[in-house]
Amino acid sequence: MMDISIVIPLFNEEESLPELTEWIDRVTSSNQLSYEVILIDDGSTDNSWKVIENLRSKNPHVKGIKFQRNYGKSAALNEGFKAAQGEIIITMDADMQDSPDEIPELRKMILEGDFDIVSGWKKKRYDNTFTKNIPSKLFNAAARSMSKIQLNDFNCGLKAYKKKVVKCIEVYGEMHRYIPVLAKWAGFKKIGEKVVEHRARKYGVTKFGWTRFVNGFLDLMTIFFVGKFGKRPMHFFGLWGTLAFIFGLMVFTYLTVSKFFFDVTGMTDRPLFYFAILAMIMGTQLFLAGFIGELISRNSIERNNYLIEQKTGL
Ligand code: UDP
Ligand code: MG
Repeated sequence: MMDISIVIPLFNEEESLPELTEWIDRVTSSNQLSYEVILIDDGSTDNSWKVIENLRSKNPHVKGIKFQRNYGKSAALNEGFKAAQGEIIITMDADMQDSPDEIPELRKMILEGDFDIVSGWKKKRYDNTFTKNIPSKLFNAAARSMSKIQLNDFNCGLKAYKKKVVKCIEVYGEMHRYIPVLAKWAGFKKIGEKVVEHRARKYGVTKFGWTRFVNGFLDLMTIFFVGKFGKRPMHFFGLWGTLAFIFGLMVFTYLTVSKFFFDVTGMTDRPLFYFAILAMIMGTQLFLAGFIGELISRNSIERNNYLIEQKTGL
């Protein structure tokens, strides 16, 4: 049985790889851990893959997966998780901002603290204050309040998992920012946190530009919405749709009654008229969105996939 799999997604990180793998090798051998390093080349345009092949020829613990094109960090992690064989899976960034020295301690926390996940916390960050540190604080606060998971740093690249966790969750889009939330949905509730050392980027540049804010926010909405209403869209859209429709209908009835019985002229001259029409149209739209959502989720192949932890007598 292999002790740990270290999964590392990378995009144009040729300079860091030799140093990083050597450091990992140093840490694991001094702790007598059997290991594999899975390097996922996410469509690099530099020499990253050549470097990986070269490292592999010198060290059989190094394994590589090369994407045909750049699919993103989530996709790379997902593939790495599929391939991982170790009892405990560690993810880290390739840019050496995460320190391999943390590996033994993270592993110990999983084994002895019986955590499903231990997430790193870059308490002291060596990144730009305005483009990273402050936005990241806001995101983490929002993610905390939506998911009710008490983590300070959801998006830390350095995390440790029990094997069964990574085999159960599917990371897609840019959901790598919210892996603890995905894990919680899958039923893994024991999520711990460890303050980890963070370092300044030694080589290369960050691979996420300003779009990280927009995408991060949209993904947060998705997480929230899918988590709450993913399996029952009608309960959201149907409720608001029905309320809006009934409200519009009541206003409309009031307008009609006052026209025919109290002879108030000019129904279309009254602002309320447009309001009533709008409310009814929006209500219908929302209701339909909910109905279509239900039809889609009824057809989903996943609709009856449940994760079964144990069985007895079967
Ligand atoms: N990365 C990746 N695919 C991408 C973008 C990034 O595999 O499309 C990798 C990148 O090479 C690094 C990790 O994800 O190993 C984190 O990226 P980066 O250091 O640029 O993010 P930051 O630390 O600036 O948040
Ligand atoms: Mg980085």
